[in-house]
Amino acid sequence: MVTPSTYSSNSVDVQSVTKTYQSRIGEIVAVGDVSFAIGKGEFLALVGPSGCGKTTLLNIVAGLTSPSSGTVQVMGQAVTRPVTEVGIVFQDPLLLAWRSVLKNVLLQVEVRKLGAAEEYDARARDLLKRVGLAGFEESLPRELSGGMKQRVSICRALVHDPPLLLMDEPFGALDAMTRDQMKLDLQNIMQLQSKSIAFVTHSITEAVFLADRVAVMSPRPGEIQEIVEIDIDRPRRLEIEETRKFNEIVGYIRRLFEEMGIFSDHLTELPDSSGG
Ligand code: ADP
Ligand code: MG
Repeated sequence: MVTPSTYSSNSVDVQSVTKTYQSRIGEIVAVGDVSFAIGKGEFLALVGPSGCGKTTLLNIVAGLTSPSSGTVQVMGQAVTRPVTEVGIVFQDPLLLAWRSVLKNVLLQVEVRKLGAAEEYDARARDLLKRVGLAGFEESLPRELSGGMKQRVSICRALVHDPPLLLMDEPFGALDAMTRDQMKLDLQNIMQLQSKSIAFVTHSITEAVFLADRVAVMSPRPGEIQEIVEIDIDRPRRLEIEETRKFNEIVGYIRRLFEEMGIFSDHLTELPDSSGG
């Protein structure tokens, strides 16, 4: 397993980033004071409750939103505008309804003006094959299941071979069995091509299954409470979720959230029935 100390340089460096939005109800401090790094080829999961600033943070790394203070570097370059060396996967696959699966993947090439789409054609077909979509190249999005659509959006994010992949709750809208398959597919892709990944999720098990390190975030204003190393061999099979080691890590992270006041069971408010 890769450990941060072996990285020569980082893919992402976030230094003391904060973000305050001016909204109609006043100032909202979305991101408190966040610093973290993602090493080359490292998979970092960011886990936190809804509204803690995860999407804001990813958008700041991608250069789509500017921080209120602090600095961000991607591949050693200060981020001041949208970064080209990233692929982004959103929770919603955002496919164009009138374009075929293949043409949706190639959209990325057109939007980024990366030259003739034909050059990327073979690569797009290869990616689709790797996620089990061979034979669906000419299908339209409406002819696909939710999981298949999200696979197309992952291929679209990877078609220009970016060194960094930013994923914002990409499996959030999928059913449990499809999510399990997507975890394996993603791991597969990662084994074949070395990518650095920032993966946002509100699922502790998903984070522990996929990541090299899990950044545990506090409620808004989001800050990183702790970064947990996931020392489990790869490739990981779904069975690891039944192991004691896996469940100890998941339990440890859940307790961190409990200590922050998340997951209250309200039982303390019930009348004492112990008869004492
Ligand atoms: P998460 O992805 O963790 O659910 P977000 O980054 O989407 O959190 O949002 C964090 C906080 O910032 C929320 O309270 C949200 O209402 C607020 N927020 C997000 N985007 C904007 C915006 N464009 N303008 C004002 N407030 C925003
Ligand atoms: Mg979000």
